[in-house]
Amino acid sequence: MIACNRRFGEAGVAKSSIHVRSAGGIERGFIVLVCRACIDPPCMKVCPTNALSKRIGGGVILNSSKCVGCKLCVNACTIGAIFWDEENEKPVICVHCGYCVDYCPYNVIRMEEIS
Ligand code: SF4
Ligand code: SF4
Repeated sequence: MIACNRRFGEAGVAKSSIHVRSAGGIERGFIVLVCRACIDPPCMKVCPTNALSKRIGGGVILNSSKCVGCKLCVNACTIGAIFWDEENEKPVICVHCGYCVDYCPYNVIRMEEIS
């Protein structure tokens, strides 16, 4: 989360597009929430201003200048992988740069091609 936020030159985790939360109790461990690069992204389909476009290889690319901050994409993502930038009132969506992978000391996350 901290590595992702660093892409924006920010401290903390407010603009991270990857989050970790409890799966419900210590024994059940944790869940990594991050975009799974849908080939047919539901988040893109609900955007009323076409601010989201398909990314080659899966997922979406955000054009912030077209975004009106309606949050429809946040609710449309089936796995809850779109987060919210409260400061700019825009969604925070993974750009699949792979930066976080290099910083995970336990090799929990990796990049792979979607077939
Ligand atoms: S918050 Fe922005 S990107 Fe998301 S659906 Fe609304 S206009 Fe589109
Ligand atoms: S943000 Fe969610 S709905 Fe959109 S491409 Fe990623 S996983 Fe799919």
